[in-house]
Amino acid sequence: MISHHRYLSSQKWNAFISSMPFNLPTEVIGYSVLKQPIYAHSLGNGPIKVLIWSQMHGNESTTTRALLDVFDFLFQPSGKRLLEALTLMIVPQLNPDGADAYTRQNANGVDLNRDALDLTQPESFALEALFKRFIPNFCFNLHGQRSIFSAGKNGKPATLSFLSPAANQERGITDARTKAMQLIACIHKSLQEYIPGQIGRYDDTFNPNCVGDRFTSLGVPTVLYESGHHGLDYDRNFTKEVTVKAIISGLQSIASRDYLKQSIDDYNLIPQNSEDYVDLIIQNIEIRSEGHVYKNQELAIQYTEKKVGDEVHFIPICVDFAEKIDCLAHQVLTADEVFHEPYVDYTRGRTIEIS
Ligand SMILES: [Zn+2]
Repeated sequence: MISHHRYLSSQKWNAFISSMPFNLPTEVIGYSVLKQPIYAHSLGNGPIKVLIWSQMHGNESTTTRALLDVFDFLFQPSGKRLLEALTLMIVPQLNPDGADAYTRQNANGVDLNRDALDLTQPESFALEALFKRFIPNFCFNLHGQRSIFSAGKNGKPATLSFLSPAANQERGITDARTKAMQLIACIHKSLQEYIPGQIGRYDDTFNPNCVGDRFTSLGVPTVLYESGHHGLDYDRNFTKEVTVKAIISGLQSIASRDYLKQSIDDYNLIPQNSEDYVDLIIQNIEIRSEGHVYKNQELAIQYTEKKVGDEVHFIPICVDFAEKIDCLAHQVLTADEVFHEPYVDYTRGRTIEIS
C-alpha cells in the first residue's frame, strides 16, 4: 500500500499556497531548528479571535491539506461573511522540518506537543509568542491519528476524534473547558450525517506540557482535532473532506454562538476512542511459530509508515494471531489472496511481504 498524499513537505505546501487564486496575508512567526520560516496567515477582522495550528507533528498532514480547502471556503461569499465575525490566525505547518522528514518530532527529535511548558524548541516558542500576542478567544489544535482507533464499541472507526483538554490535574470543568466541550458537541452533531458513529473522544488525562492543556489552563477554550481513518482510505482523502467540514462547522458555531445551546452532557455522550482496529486480518492461514504449527488461523497485520521519496509506504507488520482475532480490521482477506505459500513464519513485529 502506497500513499501519494500523506507526505506534505514544506516545499509542497508552499507551492500549494502560492498556486491559490488569491493572496493570503502572510507573516513569519519564527524559524524552525533548520532555519525554515514558520508562516502564519491572518484573515478577517471580526471581534472573536481564533488561533489554529496544524502539523506540529510533521507526519500528520491531513489537517494541513484540509486547511487549503478551508482557505478556499473563506474566500467564498459565505466564508467572507464568517470573517466579519471572526479574526483567524492560521499556522498550517508549525513543524516544517518534521514535515520534510515525515517525522512526528522536530529536527532535534523533540515532540513539540510535550514542550509547551518547557519551550526548549524554537517552534514551541514561536507558537507561544503568537498566542500571547494574538490573545485568542478560541484555539484549534489540529492533528492526525493512527488507524488503530475505533469510536467507542460500535464497530466503527474513529474517522475524527476530539478532546477538550484538561486545565489541571483534577480535570475540573473550567469555563474554558465548558466552551470547548460545547463546541465539540456542536461539531459532532453537524457531522453525524457524513460519518454517523465515527467520531471519538479522547481521554483527558492532564499533561501541562501538551499545548492544548496549557492553553486551556490559561483560560482559552482549545479544541483538539484528530483526523483519523476510514476503510482503505490510506491517502485520507475522505478524512480530509470531513475534516474541512469539521473545521468550518467549528468556526460557524463560534460565529453564530450556536455552541452555547449544547451541554457538557452532549460532549460526554460522544464515545471514547478505543484501540480496537488493526489494518488487515488474513484468514485461513497456517502459522509456523517457535517450532509449532497452527492451522486455520487468523493473522493480524498493522501497517507502519515509511517515507520513500515523496511517497509514504505502508509496511505490513505481524502483530498477533489466533483462531479468531479479537479486534476489528479495516480489511479482511484470505491467505490465498495475498500469499503464494499457504503459511507464514510468525514472529511478533516481523515485516511480511503481501501481494
Ligand atoms: Zn499529533
